[in-house]
Amino acid sequence: MAKEIKPRQKMPERPPEERIKDFFEVPLGYTEEQAVLEAERCLQCKKPKCVEGCPVNVDIPGFIALVKERKFLEAARKIKETNSLPAVCGRVCPQETQCEERCVLGKKGEPVAIGKLERFVADYERKVGVDIPPLPPKKGKKVAIVGSGPAGLTCAGDLAKMGYDVTIFEALHEPGGVLIYGIPEFRLPKEIVRQEIEYLKRLGVEIKVDYVIGKVKTIKDLFDEGYEAIFLGLGAGLPVFLGIPGENLCGVYSANEYLTRVNLMRAYQFPEYDTPILKGDRVVVVGGGNVAMDAARTALRLGSKEVVVIYRRTKKEMPARVEEVEHAEEEGIKFMFLHNPIEFIGDDKGWLKAVKVQEMRLGEPDESGRRRPIPIEGSEKIVECNIAVIAIGTRANPLLLSATPGLELNERGYIKVFEEEKLNTSIPGVYAGGDIVTGAATVILAMGAGKKAAKAIDEYLSSK
Ligand code: FAD
Ligand code: SF4
Ligand code: SF4
Repeated sequence: MAKEIKPRQKMPERPPEERIKDFFEVPLGYTEEQAVLEAERCLQCKKPKCVEGCPVNVDIPGFIALVKERKFLEAARKIKETNSLPAVCGRVCPQETQCEERCVLGKKGEPVAIGKLERFVADYERKVGVDIPPLPPKKGKKVAIVGSGPAGLTCAGDLAKMGYDVTIFEALHEPGGVLIYGIPEFRLPKEIVRQEIEYLKRLGVEIKVDYVIGKVKTIKDLFDEGYEAIFLGLGAGLPVFLGIPGENLCGVYSANEYLTRVNLMRAYQFPEYDTPILKGDRVVVVGGGNVAMDAARTALRLGSKEVVVIYRRTKKEMPARVEEVEHAEEEGIKFMFLHNPIEFIGDDKGWLKAVKVQEMRLGEPDESGRRRPIPIEGSEKIVECNIAVIAIGTRANPLLLSATPGLELNERGYIKVFEEEKLNTSIPGVYAGGDIVTGAATVILAMGAGKKAAKAIDEYLSSK
């Protein structure tokens, strides 16, 4: 008789009316009992499809079998064989389009909650304390990492574990990249990221903050100082704007600035912390990705009465994670699909008071595979608002790129790498990975790149 598959364990969450009043995390995590029950749903497939869907090939059936036996610490170690930030990935990986999408249980019902189990074991390990693995003797070779996002952190951790002297140079005053300045506390508590960074420091990684490479020092300076290889994990942090009239009005923010003010600079605690942020009763957010959802939910938590997301396609084409869209809807965020802003309108003092939008219809698919939005003439309407947040994407920041002669870029303006498995750039000894190579992507892909680069740097320095 076929094994009966029990329903997926639901993760408890804080109710919307409570959570919109603060910045604390929304999902509360599995209990031990729930984790074991969920692990029991896994069929332990001989050829696990789920692993093929994970960009870093976590041994998913392997760690789930350990959860089933209540060996939670061993399960965490199993994941860490290939994924050094499971507490982060368990929270923000788009599992529904990666590992869970391939799970065989998903064909007839709900897939195993792989991400939620990953989060559970990582949180368990953090509570009991993370051991430092035995480190090999030092090799006496220095490697510089530029940027401390998931790509840089992963690369640094792997190289430190191989015995290299690793220094991370970070432009901002706190390391973590988007994990610290972009993704809000209610989705990824900063304490988790800080603990991961502490772990790297315990591995011997040195971190220099407020250090903009390209300004304070160049790549050549780093080589001159004895760094024998360099990894560039700069991210893609330059915001893209709409290029429409009124974008310079007071009250119009890029999502980067809006989220950085709140997450990194704690603007919600102004004046206790010294960075202010404008608050408005009516906020519009332009875009349909995770960044737009984060900005909209942040605006709500800052006290806005109405937050409207304006997106030029339909809900089906939204790139944001399904879970994030659901959370936003539960919290009362409104959506204006098939609309696009064409002008921001200000008052006579230069403050934003409304946005003019135009209705769109969907045409044929464009190069991204999504149907192209086409404006409908004569469909303009006015939406009143006093804050607008633009979350339509980012590009590579040209600062370091233009200060580095000989560093080749690709046709989209990102760093060109020559071998997919090595991530080597046009400058010998300089490697690059994460968003600065691919354009805005995901945490797990950036981590995968950091891993590949660490391996390639080790090969390069070993043969030198
Ligand atoms: P980053 O995380 O951008 O880190 C780059 C670091 O380099 C930054 O700290 C920057 O200050 C530093 N730097 C840049 N230039 C210099 C320089 N010249 N000198 C020194 N330091 C420098 N992905 C998901 O998988 N799931 C999600 O839910 C998700 N949500 C997101 C929400 C938001 C708001 C944003 C902005 C992104 C989100 N992403 C999500 C995308 C994901 O965070 C990125 O793909 C990932 O962080 C890229 O990692 P990275 O290491 O390449 O770069
Ligand atoms: Fe799934 Fe991400 Fe974990 Fe891989 S790292 S198993 S994709 S949640
Ligand atoms: Fe378990 Fe699903 Fe992976 Fe099979 S595909 S091993 S059921 S998680």
